[in-house]
Amino acid sequence: MRYFLDPFGCVKNQVDAENMMSHLNKAGWESASAEEADLIIINSCGFIESAKKESINAVLEWRKLYPEKKILLAGCLAQRYAKELSESMPEADGFFGVSNIAEITQAAADIIKSEKIKTANASLSTGERPLLSLPGSAYVKISEGCDNRCSFCAIPLIRGGLVSRTIPDILEECRVLLDRGIRELCIIGQDIGSFGTENAAASKLPELLDAISSLKGNFWARLLYIHPDHFPLPILDIMEKDTRILPYFDIPFQHASAKILAAMNRQGTAEKYLALLETIRDRLPRAVIRSTFLLGFPGETEEDFAALLDFQKKAALDWLGCFTYSREEGTEAFSMKGRVPAKTAAARKQLIEERQVPITEKNMDRFAGLTLEVLIEERIDCGDEGENLWLGRLYCHAPEIDGAAVIVGGVATATPAAGTFAKCKVVARRSFDLEVMLMGN
Ligand code: SF4
Repeated sequence: MRYFLDPFGCVKNQVDAENMMSHLNKAGWESASAEEADLIIINSCGFIESAKKESINAVLEWRKLYPEKKILLAGCLAQRYAKELSESMPEADGFFGVSNIAEITQAAADIIKSEKIKTANASLSTGERPLLSLPGSAYVKISEGCDNRCSFCAIPLIRGGLVSRTIPDILEECRVLLDRGIRELCIIGQDIGSFGTENAAASKLPELLDAISSLKGNFWARLLYIHPDHFPLPILDIMEKDTRILPYFDIPFQHASAKILAAMNRQGTAEKYLALLETIRDRLPRAVIRSTFLLGFPGETEEDFAALLDFQKKAALDWLGCFTYSREEGTEAFSMKGRVPAKTAAARKQLIEERQVPITEKNMDRFAGLTLEVLIEERIDCGDEGENLWLGRLYCHAPEIDGAAVIVGGVATATPAAGTFAKCKVVARRSFDLEVMLMGN
């Protein structure tokens, strides 16, 4: 039997999709195009309104295209709205949640036998699974769920409380991935700073990074998503000793007004967050910092927004993603008063994004003239309009969300290979991207 998997959502969801594929492949299923498949699996996202709509539309569209095929709606949306969907969405033949990915083979078999699946409920991750990531890069999910209770967030409702994997288990996955030729291990979880804290007083992230640092070879370990209220400072010691543990930090501050942060159920203040940034940059002058801001949270006044603009200026973040608030049922913020009109939230988001442009551009200028490693990614066919270009990423670029390194020339004999490292010199900046010359391997 053949399946086609249509993936949605964040990179944590992507790892779930990869693990589903691994289980199906081991059970004898074959990955195929939608046209050839017997079963279409939509791995949905249920995080915010727009993502929910996208996944639901995918089911409707696949059904319209293939009235006879079996369709399984999997992932966060299926977990969150299992009951409602099974009662109201006849276009899907079954629903499969996120609690036990290994049960996908049974769910797929049942659906083919025309048995309706409701939802299945800690998913195992192995280094042998198919990868949906960019060449040379893989996501390593070290925990599932979250014990933080940010008042706007539905993730704990969908994925439950924090469950961390063991360090030997994660290390084995990293080893297998490196043996497969993977050069970048992106360490992910809802909040990796909390790793292990469901069973211990302090974060076990430093211990995990120490273990990863004991692995041989040239690779990058990139940390994504550390909640700013419990940033484990000992990780800075490990990054100082081992440059393969990249000084790249994704710290979603969300806001800077003390009133809004408290309403979000966060303990920080602008002063505390600026002090954290100063500590990181003092210890690791090469540090690159990404963050996320949430605009239009209930009760956000012009004064609160001004506090965020002031923080943005002082924080001088390298990369910033902005979102407007999405009112999610079941969350604490759902019933909060002082709802901000969507137009106001969108205008605030636009202003923040406009102000970030010169900050990011100025920050990227500091790489000019440096010789760094680039992880080669792909060749872009420019057609008649110019030469074909190779794209890659430097340590300052997380996959898919930041800018890129554009290879504009270099060693004449060097033919880059996707998924490998090459040395390059940064020669110029083009918008947010950096132009680099290859210097060889
Ligand atoms: S840290 Fe907050 S925003 Fe992130 S997943 Fe946990 S509850 Fe949601």
